[in-house]
Amino acid sequence: MADNLSTYRAKRDFKKTAEPSGDVEVRSSNRRRFVIQKHDATRLHYDLRLELDGVFKSWAVTRGPSLDPGDKRLAVEVEDHPLDYGDFEGTIPKGEYGGGTVMLWDRGYWEPEGNRSPEDALAKGDFKFTLKGDRLHGSFVLVRMRHDRDGGKRINWLLIKHHDEFLSFGS
Ligand code: MN
Repeated sequence: MADNLSTYRAKRDFKKTAEPSGDVEVRSSNRRRFVIQKHDATRLHYDLRLELDGVFKSWAVTRGPSLDPGDKRLAVEVEDHPLDYGDFEGTIPKGEYGGGTVMLWDRGYWEPEGNRSPEDALAKGDFKFTLKGDRLHGSFVLVRMRHDRDGGKRINWLLIKHHDEFLSFGS
């Protein structure tokens, strides 16, 4: 789970896209960072990225996060991203992987919840965490779904808001 950027690099041609190659070392912080990038690609989605073990673990959240605990949002696991991706905004050229506009939508810090390490919680497919961002606050869980609809190619999770003081129904 350490430096796992080979998939990230294989998908991209850094002569054509301005996205970071991940070759620049980003100083580790004593707090774990997160970002959410609004990505207006073939299909609009919101990329949730949580810093863990030197990379951003990443999910494409189809309709973006919801603050309503009853409103579970599909979150498709995508490849680890380099930490300097957290500063990236811009337009990926048409025809390139993820072609479209990327805008920072939220950023801040996150903390794991419970006694399990975040690595274990991810492996178990039941990953609880607290966000402290500019927009999003409070407790969320990512739950890995047992089966996906595309014959196993994608790893689908659900992003669900926990009941806390930061929930909001119908948002
Ligand atoms: Mn994306």
